[in-house]
Amino acid sequence: MTGQSAETAIQRCPTCGAQQAATALECRRCHSDLSLLVAVREQLQVLHHLCLRQLATDRPEQALEFARLRHGMCPDETSRRLLAVTLLRLGRFAEAAALTADD
Ligand SMILES: [Zn+2]
Repeated sequence: MTGQSAETAIQRCPTCGAQQAATALECRRCHSDLSLLVAVREQLQVLHHLCLRQLATDRPEQALEFARLRHGMCPDETSRRLLAVTLLRLGRFAEAAALTADD
């Protein structure tokens, strides 16, 4: 399993740049509200797990919907990998390869 868990991950305050636990709801330095950032990160994890569950139960079409939602919310290496795996499972090799073409 790659990536950081929510408990050990670090986030930077978008207002002042202070580092703190990814679960912090308020910046310890400037007291900016970080709850939306935490909620978005949790939603990304939920979509990721829903996608994996659909793949594990042999429902790749449903998995693709979750993978696309995850990628649409925050396109990053993790979302590209999830989308690529889902597309491979569906036999859509060219689309999967296109996701890693920039690497
Ligand atoms: Zn701050």
